[in-house]
Amino acid sequence: MQRVIPHYLIIVCPKCGLVQYVKEGQKSRKCPNSKCKNIINPRRVIVYAHSSDIHQAVKVVQQIKKNKHEMHEMKDIKSILEEVDYD
Ligand SMILES: [Zn+2]
Repeated sequence: MQRVIPHYLIIVCPKCGLVQYVKEGQKSRKCPNSKCKNIINPRRVIVYAHSSDIHQAVKVVQQIKKNKHEMHEMKDIKSILEEVDYD
């Protein structure tokens, strides 16, 4: 049996479009947008990126918010991941 490393998934609230991360395996998450409060099922939304490093997941979310990236294209997220890759 291999050790499972938890991943943090970068998702977007399908109701309000807020970028956020959620720990893999989490069954539901309430959108942190106080005007939205949508209950998100992480298994039913698109995962734009994932990382085993929570700091990187946070950075990706911040970077997306800062640049106001449109979250429709996967290649945008890949370039953001390259930007925040500080290893
Ligand atoms: Zn929301």
